[in-house]
Amino acid sequence: MKIYDFEIDDNVFELGKQCEAELKERFAAVEKTKEKNFYKVLDSFRKARVSDFHFRDTSGYGLSDPGRDKVEEVYKNIFRTEDALVRPQIISGTHAISITLFGLLRPGDTLLYLSGAPYETGEAIIGIRKAEGSLSEFGVKFSQTDLSKRTEEDKIKKAKVGVIQRSGGYSFRKALTVSEIGEMIKKVKKINPDMIIMVDNCYGEFVEELEPTDAGADVVVGSLIKNMGGAITPTGGYIAGKECCIKKVEGMLTAPGTGREIGPMLNLTRLFLQGVFFAPQVVSDALKGALFASCLFEKMGYNVKPRFDEKRGDIVQAIELGSAEKLIAFAQSVQGVSPVDWDAEILPSPLAGYENDILMAAGTFVQGSSIELSADAPMKPPYVAYLQGGIYFEHSKLASLVAASRIKSISK
Ligand SMILES: *Cc1c(COP(=O)(O)O)cnc(C)c1O
Repeated sequence: MKIYDFEIDDNVFELGKQCEAELKERFAAVEKTKEKNFYKVLDSFRKARVSDFHFRDTSGYGLSDPGRDKVEEVYKNIFRTEDALVRPQIISGTHAISITLFGLLRPGDTLLYLSGAPYETGEAIIGIRKAEGSLSEFGVKFSQTDLSKRTEEDKIKKAKVGVIQRSGGYSFRKALTVSEIGEMIKKVKKINPDMIIMVDNCYGEFVEELEPTDAGADVVVGSLIKNMGGAITPTGGYIAGKECCIKKVEGMLTAPGTGREIGPMLNLTRLFLQGVFFAPQVVSDALKGALFASCLFEKMGYNVKPRFDEKRGDIVQAIELGSAEKLIAFAQSVQGVSPVDWDAEILPSPLAGYENDILMAAGTFVQGSSIELSADAPMKPPYVAYLQGGIYFEHSKLASLVAASRIKSISK
């Protein structure tokens, strides 16, 4: 059948219908979480007494910016932390992670990843992959363990900062749930109560009713062109946590001594606030899209992570396609249903901070936004596509149906 220009295989369409019927209860649970998170966000705005006057612009140094203070207060309320930094000067999730680690660590300290290998761009920050100015050049040592599999007491005792990555990144592991993160933190703090725990919260915000800071994390960080920006915040990142941690980090945000006192909002205050106001809504649609893709591609015989009936920790859906041809067809299908640049040719290419060539489909309004419907994948076996975002469930659904139809014709 056809929906406008899009050719959808009749069997795939039928499978899609079955999925929607089977997912009814899961969708209802997603909406329940949205409702709870919306109330939390609304309460956070009301407690901060956000006013129309806060949307006024500041420039230059951005000294005494009451709008910026309100943004940070709203985040503090949402994450139930003592403090938060939320700025357009934090350019990405990677940048937020970098600022935080450089702020918390000193020469001779050890950084321990508690959830296995770090996200690809983290390898350069740490110096696992050679990069000018990495933590390793400043004498910060690194080790990793996978606490969900084993406990290595000696490593835990030695570390100053421990990192837990909520989302799986390109590792094809299931994202951690907040309760799993809480268990990990409890285990670690029993062995080393002084360890500072940072959670890389990218893609996880508003997926559950609680956030890692409700489960004992000292600091959480993330990107505003993912979940927290509600698909309309055009740039930025956040760092929320204990006052003592934020104090160490703010010098890295601007300069030691100057810290958080400067940083103009560049007329973005309204979009920062409106974005987080929309976020529970957008995350809920993105989650439904991920569930649909999980169900559909499993019915097509592919290995997916997570499966549609598993508890989710993030909005990312991984689909193991098994061949380069199918992976490219998947990415091209996602691009092809996009509102912007639908006719762009998607080819694997190098991307700053990543080791392998990356295939990236993102016909998005905000460059590189992955809370808008997008797909990416490192070009290597077993050719796993990572699908995420989608402001409309219907958009993600269309993308999955089109991609599944194209891929089906390849397997014939
Ligand atoms: C996206 C992501 C990052 C990096 O964020 P960017 O904004 O792309 O730099 C870091 N960690 C995880 C788990 C991510 O998903």
